[in-house]
Amino acid sequence: MTELSKFQAFIQCKCPRCRQGDIFAGSAYSFRLQKTNIYCPVCNLKFEREPGFFYVAMFVSYAMNVAEIITIGVASYVLGLDLIYENLWYYVGFILFGVFLCSPINYRYSRVILLHYLTPGLHYVPGSGEKR
Ligand SMILES: [Zn+2]
Repeated sequence: MTELSKFQAFIQCKCPRCRQGDIFAGSAYSFRLQKTNIYCPVCNLKFEREPGFFYVAMFVSYAMNVAEIITIGVASYVLGLDLIYENLWYYVGFILFGVFLCSPINYRYSRVILLHYLTPGLHYVPGSGEKR
């Protein structure tokens, strides 16, 4: 199996230690609820490092939401929606719709950012994904 780079493992939501196991079960856009695996299916790393670990992902998700809201608002303006009071509910509607569409991505990547970039002491260990 070819080794993934850190960025490839990040994009594909793979385990930060072995870069082979999936962090999530199922796809991002399905009608079933999102589910984070408790353990890496390949190297058996426990993804929730300590009790309440994924609460920190909420702050990451908040930052992602703010970035999306600003992007959608500016994009609406650039694409021709005048910045007048009568258009207020168009802005609100576009922003809420965009945030709703991005919510599965926010759920996943806030946790992946937390695991890959914001957790001290959690690094790639070459060979940790090989069968013992
Ligand atoms: Zn793993």
